[in-house]
Amino acid sequence: MDIINILPDSVANQIAAGEVVDRPASAVKELLENAMDAGATQIDLVVKDAGRTLIQVVDNGCGMSDSDARLCFERHATSKIHRADDLFAIQTMGFRGEALASIAAIAQVELKTRMHDNELGTQVLIEGSQIVSQQPTACAPGTSLAVKNLFFNVPARRNFLKKDSVELSHIEEVFRRVTLIHYDLGFSLTSNGRVLYDLQAGSMLQRIAGLYGNHYKERFFNVEEQTDLLKIKGFVGKPEYSRKTRGEQYLFVNGRFIKHPALSAAVEKAYSDLLPEHSYPSYFIGLQVDPARIDINIHPTKTEVKFVDEHAMFAILRSAVKKALGQFTLATELEFDTPAEFNIPPAPKGYVPPEPKISYNPNYNPFGGKKSEWGERREGRDRIAAIEGIEAIDRIDKSTPSIDSIDSIPAIETPPPPRQATCLQVQGRYIVTTLSSGLAVIDQQRAHERVLYERLSTPTSDLRPPTSQALLFPVNCQFTPADADLFGELMPDLREYGFAIDPVGQCTFVVTATPPDIKESELQTTFDHMLLDYKSATLQKYSNRTQTLCASLARQMAVKAGTPLGQEEMQQLVADLFACPMPETSPSGKKIITVVKTEEILK
Ligand code: ADP
Ligand code: MG
Repeated sequence: MDIINILPDSVANQIAAGEVVDRPASAVKELLENAMDAGATQIDLVVKDAGRTLIQVVDNGCGMSDSDARLCFERHATSKIHRADDLFAIQTMGFRGEALASIAAIAQVELKTRMHDNELGTQVLIEGSQIVSQQPTACAPGTSLAVKNLFFNVPARRNFLKKDSVELSHIEEVFRRVTLIHYDLGFSLTSNGRVLYDLQAGSMLQRIAGLYGNHYKERFFNVEEQTDLLKIKGFVGKPEYSRKTRGEQYLFVNGRFIKHPALSAAVEKAYSDLLPEHSYPSYFIGLQVDPARIDINIHPTKTEVKFVDEHAMFAILRSAVKKALGQFTLATELEFDTPAEFNIPPAPKGYVPPEPKISYNPNYNPFGGKKSEWGERREGRDRIAAIEGIEAIDRIDKSTPSIDSIDSIPAIETPPPPRQATCLQVQGRYIVTTLSSGLAVIDQQRAHERVLYERLSTPTSDLRPPTSQALLFPVNCQFTPADADLFGELMPDLREYGFAIDPVGQCTFVVTATPPDIKESELQTTFDHMLLDYKSATLQKYSNRTQTLCASLARQMAVKAGTPLGQEEMQQLVADLFACPMPETSPSGKKIITVVKTEEILK
């Protein structure tokens, strides 16, 4: 029995369409690219319901003739290549002639287009690949393409779409990837009747400011370099504005956003010594390369690319970024004639050097100023605790310096009697204290994260401070229009946690009080990170709102590894930690405490 069917064209088109257009954001990308290929200088994007009901791109580009206006919806209809050879010199965004055919297969499309020399334009209506009508129309020169009811005939795809906020953030990301590098063109984005971005043609820095807010202008250094192989132009973030995620890292090649782990590593390498652990620089870097040196065997809608001269590009990019960071001269001079260890770049403003490996105060007196005979003996005991601690740590982590490095501690003859838990800070990041069963090694940052998380998320707990802390001077926080919307939504939650926040103007909020542990100088960064975390959590849809927000805030507010802590601070932190319902793990699931059993120590 024969079992093979030939699929009808409409079905084949729908299937093929799925590869090009899997969500509203990918249709947006194709339409914006077509408009740029048409030589437009102003491109306006309008979406409704995150692109579900409408995606419209209006451009002032070259427009299409009457017959091209029909032809453009045919598969493999493209004006951009004529021969296979053209592929090697391709400079335009699209060239496979698939996008419009795909979109027309899965939506109701209205095209209005007019060439500049023509008096009248033409309007084409097409639905599920079928042309419904074509007629002359009065319209502005250029093209308007409206995609309505995306996936109207592919319920499976439609049902897979995420919440509007998620789909809209995908669209915004596409919009950023396109507009950041095409700063010489004007763009706007309107969502549900609200103008989210209105970007004038200008410089790259103006574009960054237009997308992220004016305060971004001070956050970046200019990076520029020109070699035969590679032209670099962009902006790299000042180290003090590094982030906890790689969210703001944008690389472009020949006007197109790309992902390239090796080149990204080159940028991060240039920062190597300037950033605290788990911090990532922000950057927006445009590269120009001879298209013939790019491997074109890569799917054009994908963001991955391969370069023939990858190694050389890596080196050029790294040194260009180093230079931008203001350490080029010194660092390269040193690189040539001294061993690598001496190649220490000057620390930038605001950089906190890591603590020395062991921080320990041999003169610590738990009885404060009142020095008694007891005091003397206690001091000795604390020293022993310190030594025990260090030995124990040493056994856990071989990279820790040995006990020889603290020769200021005198030998002590008698074993210590039982004592109250003293804390010792090791490597500026661990607190060592005694338990009945042995020694506890506590990660200070994670511990603090846990404590803050409990305070924020459980309003009734004993840990919850009775009031929030009023700021001496109110602090203004600024967001992009889209972020401001989101922030407005989250404001009631933040008030619950002890923030006093009110909107002033469209994108600005004034903060007049905060929970006690927050630094007002870090408010903007804290909120920026919180929004980022919140958005990415929503994307991964483990969306327990309180959990996500509190975990993010706790992470921002927690004392960082490398911060020296006083004895009292450590003891308070340990006490608070053990009052938490889950002292063993941080809100993000990382281990906080390691116990070294007494038997272990005895061995
Ligand atoms: P590709 O961009 O790969 O050529 P598309 O399906 O995206 O394929 O577009 C098909 C053709 O339609 C393009 O090659 C171009 O000639 C024409 N076209 C599409 N959008 C526009 C536009 N906004 N302005 C002018 N021409 C356009
Ligand atoms: Mg195209």
